[in-house]
Amino acid sequence: MTGDLTHPWAEIIEYGHHSQPRPSTDRLDTCCPGEPSSPQFVPRSKRVVAMTLATIPEYNPEQTQRLGDRAIVAGGSMAGLVTARVLSDYFGSVMVIEADEYPDDPVPRRGVPQGTQVHALQESGRATLEALFEGYTDDLLAAGGVEMDSASDLLLYSQSGFLADGTEQIPGYTATRPLVEDVTRRRLEAVEGVEFRTGCRVVDYSCDGSTVDGVVLRNGPGETTHLPAEFVVDATGRTSVTPDWLERNGYAAPPVEKVDIDVGYSTVTVERSLDEEWGVLATAEAPRTRGGVAFPVEDDCWQLNFHGVHGDHPPGDVDGLVEFASTLPVPHLERLLRERRVMSEVSQYPFPSSRRQYYERLDDFPEGFAVVGDAIASFNPVYGQGMSVAALEALELHHTLADGLAGIGPRFFQRASDVVDTAWSLAVGADAQFAETTTPVSPAEDLFARYFAQFTRRSHSDPVLRSAYMRVLSMEQPPRALLRPGLLARVLTPRAISGRVSDAESPSPFGGADA
Ligand SMILES: Cc1cc2nc3c(=O)[nH]c(=O)nc-3n(C[C@H](O)[C@H](O)[C@H](O)COP(=O)(O)OP(=O)(O)OC[C@H]3O[C@@H](n4cnc5c(N)ncnc54)[C@H](O)[C@@H]3O)c2cc1C
Repeated sequence: MTGDLTHPWAEIIEYGHHSQPRPSTDRLDTCCPGEPSSPQFVPRSKRVVAMTLATIPEYNPEQTQRLGDRAIVAGGSMAGLVTARVLSDYFGSVMVIEADEYPDDPVPRRGVPQGTQVHALQESGRATLEALFEGYTDDLLAAGGVEMDSASDLLLYSQSGFLADGTEQIPGYTATRPLVEDVTRRRLEAVEGVEFRTGCRVVDYSCDGSTVDGVVLRNGPGETTHLPAEFVVDATGRTSVTPDWLERNGYAAPPVEKVDIDVGYSTVTVERSLDEEWGVLATAEAPRTRGGVAFPVEDDCWQLNFHGVHGDHPPGDVDGLVEFASTLPVPHLERLLRERRVMSEVSQYPFPSSRRQYYERLDDFPEGFAVVGDAIASFNPVYGQGMSVAALEALELHHTLADGLAGIGPRFFQRASDVVDTAWSLAVGADAQFAETTTPVSPAEDLFARYFAQFTRRSHSDPVLRSAYMRVLSMEQPPRALLRPGLLARVLTPRAISGRVSDAESPSPFGGADA
């Protein structure tokens, strides 16, 4: 991996030893083939601070000021939508330019191919959306989203057992990805000053000297329009061309880190009875390459997700998925698939690698420009945190803009990196445990991975640990919260905590004995 200082586990080790940060390594071992590794790599000198809901200051409309007449957001998916909402406090008008036409109903669309796959909205994301769009949670639930207690209604299987129920309620929300976006977009449409241009692509960013001053968009074949703006944000997701654009315009592209995981996803929808408001999470975990997730979603359905890493991909047909499900360590998915009416085709999605652009390490970046969401980092969604990262980044942008537009990109990237670090290291840290993952693991990461595994095993029978685990997973608390002395003692004391829930004793929310 990239070097200790970029990893929140390093923060934990620093925290544990009260030592000074070590200098970061100045190379990335895992640059994508064919992608530029920047000669302008700037080692991080600041202390790593994993930012989460608990550590980012709250949204504060009082701190906003008028910074310009128009801001433009390229890409109108989750990151673009929450970003546009934040910009509406600072600019007279905000234009969202989206390549797709939005569908009338919440259904998957071409520009968001992962939208067919199961998505969870973590509490940090939900709470941020609620702060930006008051009443958002009610809207999501009214549209069919499901609320459950993630501390007890989510059957979480990890480290060869189910985690105990937590000590306190932790709300969790499930809905299809298109529904989450649909509710967000409809709320944004009602925000004064926000307008949408759909069905056209941003093909270039225009510059006045070293300041981005607008975008060029393509309306149709051979037809382009220039739109000026004081601030432009790239929210075009994983296919963002900003690194190439920077190079073409005399800047260095950001260093890029790529971690190959070669995961294949298959998702299918089956019938659900209304009172079933629980979920199952048994993601692939080294050395087990296969995993599955079952979440209740709108329209009285379950979304069942099957996945396999390092080429052990699930098939694309229901019969094959039943067979795949029978190899999982939890019985629930096979049972749902066998017993319930199948409501959709099997939808497949390949995810070859996690990829992160280290914009915060550039020492030269144009004024009037920033990048958000998956365009910064797109990671194996094993912990379902991408939308919440996008929301927390928007919150960071809200605070960055309070200090004006000068140097906005670098100031924002520095703050955003603290959010990304948390999610990136959880996802990539888990992937690095597979023998097939070739990414080198630093001592800090290795130590934390072993601690986290032990933490999880103790969570099988310790409700306090389960609650703490969920708060980190939902990005409410930073990973260092797992090192609080009270928790450390529960994890590391040799005392064997009895009552571990074994596979045979798996919780049975179906009522009656499990299959
Ligand atoms: C299999 C899978 C499962 C996932 N599960 C979860 C989960 O459970 N929970 C979670 O929080 N996250 C999950 N994620 C991540 C989540 O989907 C993303 O992090 C989230 O959608 C934010 O992405 P984004 O808005 O940055 O980019 P995207 O969603 O990729 O959107 C980019 C947008 O930009 C548009 N666009 C692209 N180019 C242009 C252009 N030139 N001009 C104009 N528009 C353009 C596209 O049409 C699209 O609308 C998952 C991801 C995958 C792959």
